[in-house]
Amino acid sequence: MRYVSTRATGASQSATFSDILLGGLAPDGGLYLPAEYPRVTGAELDAWRQLSYADLAFEVLKKFATDIPEADLKALAEKTYTAQVYRNARAGESAEEITPLRVLEDEGRRKLVLQALSNGPTLAFKDMAMQLLGNLFEYALAKKDQQLNIFGATSGDTGSAAEYAMRGKKGIRVFMLSPHKKMSAFQTAQMFSLQDPNIFNIAVEGVFDDCQDLVKAVSNDLEFKARYKIGTVNSINWARVVAQVVYYFRGYLAATSSNDQKVSFTVPSGNFGNICAGHIARQMGLPIDKLVVATNENDVLDEFFRTGVYRVRKSAETFHTSSPSMDISKASNFERFIYDLVGGDSERVRALFAKVETDGGFDLSGAPGSDGDEVKRVGEYGFKSGKSTHDDRLATIRDVADNYGITIDTHTADGIKVAREYLEEGVPMIVLETALAAKFNETILEALGTDAERPAGFENIEALPQRFIVLPPDVAKMKAYIAEHTGL
Ligand SMILES: *Cc1c(COP(=O)(O)O)cnc(C)c1O
Repeated sequence: MRYVSTRATGASQSATFSDILLGGLAPDGGLYLPAEYPRVTGAELDAWRQLSYADLAFEVLKKFATDIPEADLKALAEKTYTAQVYRNARAGESAEEITPLRVLEDEGRRKLVLQALSNGPTLAFKDMAMQLLGNLFEYALAKKDQQLNIFGATSGDTGSAAEYAMRGKKGIRVFMLSPHKKMSAFQTAQMFSLQDPNIFNIAVEGVFDDCQDLVKAVSNDLEFKARYKIGTVNSINWARVVAQVVYYFRGYLAATSSNDQKVSFTVPSGNFGNICAGHIARQMGLPIDKLVVATNENDVLDEFFRTGVYRVRKSAETFHTSSPSMDISKASNFERFIYDLVGGDSERVRALFAKVETDGGFDLSGAPGSDGDEVKRVGEYGFKSGKSTHDDRLATIRDVADNYGITIDTHTADGIKVAREYLEEGVPMIVLETALAAKFNETILEALGTDAERPAGFENIEALPQRFIVLPPDVAKMKAYIAEHTGL
């Protein structure tokens, strides 16, 4: 299996899975995709119905990571997807299932199903991929006898998922910037209570944008970056996308009894990473009917799928909402889908995303003067979309609590709200649950008047001792801190 860049030119033309594992963007600024999607046969799907999550992950991974010995890949999958790691399942759900399904509505033949992806260590779906990445990185670095210093900025979710995936891993250190005193008490406690010596929490006296500017400034110093082996774990990483492909297979197999059946998925979306994995599963031959993109008030993606206009938002136009992990102004994985939508024409992809930089977007609506008319083809890929607001979230959280007796988080509420607009007879609709409610308790309190239940072990997390340092938003001081703590 070879990988190409969506803006393929010269050296980025052909790489292996291991080549691209530790990196982000291709050298030409594009994103990596397999030269061709591997196909899954009906016989394979039948055989996969019996498998544990870890064994299913191995079967899917081995189609993409053909340069890693199968025995190693199987061991990595088995180490990653254990009931111990995904232990935060609700009462009545099995941790052994890793991503347990729960039928919410089964009226007539209209079925609404929740697939829990948020039972890992940080209670959000990012653990599904990040946990695998931690093990893959450790494996790859040991083989090359190298070390990696992950440097990133977080407003909450991604940073904690990365830290819990990388803690204690040989050859890896994590330097994570967060805005001092700006995260929720729960998020702060989750990150800062880690005592592992390879985790460095840096609280920056500033806001999230200051943290991101510091990451950019340090990363733009190529000499420093090379000398101190600085890397990232952002959502465009290809291995993260592949790890997410697995649970679409799992959801399909758990919701059906034969391959003649179809299912649809609704995905609470921000950077288009999660649903991009669903698109890839569908391209591999998984019988998915619809892929429904659910957004919050930040509706860049809903606008595109309705109109064909992709218009990235400015910072001032990006709303802070009660489903904050979907507060994005541009969808960093979207280019992967656009590449497929324009028939793998990398010249076009390059031109369209150059236009994003210069004009703030592109237009595939087919209107006079537009950049193309491909929006008419999104249906061939199963795509639909919808939007949900703060009031919708409150109403949906209440409705789900009243009718099904469970508390869902704000992002999942956006998913359920939009999924209900696309329910169809005979096609189960699976909504991906992307976080547990305990992470977003303020809104739960607002909706229900009671606190969200905390999984065992999280009860007193705010009282645990915290390990972090505070630094001013100063590039030189940041570099000095990293240089001193990388051991290089
Ligand atoms: C990251 C995140 C999302 C958005 O996922 P994308 O892959 O960026 O589309 C949705 N919900 C939660 C809880 C998240 O943490």
